[in-house]
Amino acid sequence: MPEFDYQFFVIGGGSGGVRSARIAAGHGARVAISEGYRYGGTCVIRGCVPKKLLVYASHFSDDFADAQGFGWSVPPARFSWPQLIAAKNQEIARLSELYESNLRRSGVKVLHSAARILDAHTVEVDGRPFSAQHILIATGGRPFVPSIPGIELALTSNEVFDLPQLPQRILIVGGGYIAVEFAGILKGLGAQVTLCYRGEQLLRGFDDDVRQHLHGEMSKKDIRILLQSDIVRIERVAAGALQVEISGRSQGPLLFDAVLYATGRVPNTDGLGLAQVGVEVDSAGGVRVDEYGRTNIPSIHAVGDVTNRIALTPVAIREGAAVANTLFGPGPTVADLTVVPSAVFSQPPIGTVGLSETDALARHDVIDIYRANFRSLRQTLSGRDERTLIKLIVDGASQRVLGAHMVGADAPEIIQGLAIAIRMGATKADFDATVALHPTTAEEFVTLREKTTRTRHG
Ligand code: NDP
Repeated sequence: MPEFDYQFFVIGGGSGGVRSARIAAGHGARVAISEGYRYGGTCVIRGCVPKKLLVYASHFSDDFADAQGFGWSVPPARFSWPQLIAAKNQEIARLSELYESNLRRSGVKVLHSAARILDAHTVEVDGRPFSAQHILIATGGRPFVPSIPGIELALTSNEVFDLPQLPQRILIVGGGYIAVEFAGILKGLGAQVTLCYRGEQLLRGFDDDVRQHLHGEMSKKDIRILLQSDIVRIERVAAGALQVEISGRSQGPLLFDAVLYATGRVPNTDGLGLAQVGVEVDSAGGVRVDEYGRTNIPSIHAVGDVTNRIALTPVAIREGAAVANTLFGPGPTVADLTVVPSAVFSQPPIGTVGLSETDALARHDVIDIYRANFRSLRQTLSGRDERTLIKLIVDGASQRVLGAHMVGADAPEIIQGLAIAIRMGATKADFDATVALHPTTAEEFVTLREKTTRTRHG
């Protein structure tokens, strides 16, 4: 009889948990995984994947309009939200099933209930205890909403993917990834969109030029953006509309058909039994781990959003793989997260890697900044007044490229490649020495000549 039912018990069937379970099984470990909702986690079920499908869908309205500049006559197009959601659901069901079948094929025991940790080596599922040599917490996060009067009338990203109809007038609260992505999606699909953010500019933490540029482009699309504004209360009034009182508005409350809160996410630790077992969490409720993903209890690890570090799928996947390799593979492995590119699927999208201008100046005495702001070739015939921003930030002393940022069509696709160069320590001279690929937008990154120099103390 083995000492434990399983060598590795993974709680949570999202990106991090599934990768960790499969890699551990690949190393020959006896592995079980438990998921209380649907396999695939936030990213597959109600995050990155369905969001990207909705971004594609919403883009057609601009594409139909632009086609005329290229000689096409396009009859008035009609859009069906229920048809899109049904197609999206079918694809998500396929992917979720694929996650499960891949786990089974890897030899992982797949369970379909929420799990609770009873002690350092025991997990309970459906009232049944399982002993485990190692336990992995990979339960992800969930939307956070502030408590204001009427908040129960608001949607979050959990519900917005499955609305029966597209709301005509929608208010989006927040200025982060989800807020700007859904503003673009819902606008493109035909809704009137208002975005309300408490800060001075959208996307806090991103490069300031990027933030400003996106704001400008979103405004051109008739997305109404209210900055330095907070929601005071939401009330249901006649005919089902929602009346929203917004701070600092002398014009009175506004009416919407739906309100979407995109005000951040919090670690999902409810019902896991962490306090009872003594697993330490940080002030935001994230499970505290060391560089190997180990909690204060040596047999319990955690990866992904539940640790409240970088909440991105590819990061959770790296962390999950590192834990499995540490416990059952080659030995102690730390996920290398020195360069983490990221994308915001706003319209136009953002791709970014490395430091913003502000962060670069905080760490380097002298930086060179290269910028281009232009109308792409496509927009010359489309007639669309959309501009692209690209920006490189270079360390004045070493000439290494510290950051690359772009707002414009295909920015995420372009930045992925630049992330390799930046991770390898490419200098501005390396960029300059690279032959351009013409005619593309990406070639601007190797033809930037005009620089502005900034010094930390100047
Ligand atoms: P973000 O952290 O990106 O943004 C949250 C926004 O809500 C911020 O603008 C924040 O303002 C605001 N906010 C927070 N609390 C309040 C409050 N009490 N009242 C009013 N506004 C508030 O979170 P998201 O929910 O957009 O996304 C969660 C995470 O998921 C992201 O951070 C990202 O890691 C990940 N994600 C990644 C995507 C991608 O890779 N493309 C897409 C979607 C999500 P302030 O800035 O002032 O704090």
